[in-house]
Amino acid sequence: MKKEALKEFRKPEVAAVAKEVLKRGPVCDNCLGRQAAQVSTGMTNRDRGKALRQMLGAGREPAKCGVCMGIFKRIDGYADAAAKRLAKLEYETFLVGTKMSCDFIRSEESLWEDVGIDYCESIRSELNRELGKLIWKKVKHEVDEKSPDVLVILNLEKDRIDLQVKSLFISGGYKKLVRGIPQTKWDKYRETVEDIIAAPLLKATGGEGHSMHAAGREDIDARCLDWRPFVFEIKNPVRRKIDLRLMRAKIKKSGKVEVSGLSFSDKKQVPIVKSMRHDKTYSVLVEFERPVKSIEAVEGVKGYVSQRTPTRVMHRRADLTRKRRVIDISWKRINNKNFELQIKGEAGLYVKELVTGDSGRTKPSIAGLLGNPAAVKALDVIKIWD
Ligand SMILES: [Zn+2]
Repeated sequence: MKKEALKEFRKPEVAAVAKEVLKRGPVCDNCLGRQAAQVSTGMTNRDRGKALRQMLGAGREPAKCGVCMGIFKRIDGYADAAAKRLAKLEYETFLVGTKMSCDFIRSEESLWEDVGIDYCESIRSELNRELGKLIWKKVKHEVDEKSPDVLVILNLEKDRIDLQVKSLFISGGYKKLVRGIPQTKWDKYRETVEDIIAAPLLKATGGEGHSMHAAGREDIDARCLDWRPFVFEIKNPVRRKIDLRLMRAKIKKSGKVEVSGLSFSDKKQVPIVKSMRHDKTYSVLVEFERPVKSIEAVEGVKGYVSQRTPTRVMHRRADLTRKRRVIDISWKRINNKNFELQIKGEAGLYVKELVTGDSGRTKPSIAGLLGNPAAVKALDVIKIWD
């Protein structure tokens, strides 16, 4: 093989490139060989550089290199640093990337202006490959080009190794068993569904942050008594293999939130969960201002209702009128002013406004049909339909 390679290198146009590189000043074997990277396969740029130098009788490799500033001599140190940091992490796969600095970009551009780019490879690509090989030898974890658990970044600007750890995604469903906590961070509320789920997950993974993506949200003062699908993201996890059954038990101990069907997931699930549009059944405790004569009239909301954006969410939503379907309604009398209604509606139906009418912004409404002002005393999501 070496003989054949030499034959390739002897071609006048290749030899001319090598001579030009050598003429520019001290250059290491890697940087010399890299300018002929496409000439023969199955060898490293370092081997190519050695062969070219020998062929041209250019003496020994100098201690300094004006192209890479000696980075290939220091590469083992970077590999050691990366392996040490990786040893503290739980991961299956990794990939090496290089963050170029202005100095390196300038140096490479000036070299290519002088000697051309006919047979070259970029320094970034050689660094990624050579550092990747060295780290692989030390850590024995697989390389994944598409979606590695850890991205090892050789940061040439800062002259250091950075690690970018892939977020850990966990899918599941949650129930909210108490009123008065928002799903995610909201105003003055100190506790959220997200925080309650996050607490044991952060502890188990050693993660640094989290976010929760769910299929819709219930009102802060509403319970959610069926499993609402979500995807949980843990940022920068140190550990990835956590006991999900234990997580479920710990979350349940909160007495406020429960989770079910936890499984390891991925980023692709986030838009899927966010775009889910489930029909839901609500249980609503309604108090009417005056005694109700014929509750049957509430059947009149079945079909499509027209809802202008509720006044209570006007400050954060566009003022639009939407058509939403009320699929079913049934009732249970508590006394002549108080009823428990069960309402099945399509995703996006504003249930409180369906009851009160929101000063005529929702039509028809229960208060409107009965000609009797009505207030929602309690609201629960009791069924999330597939
Ligand atoms: Zn060099």
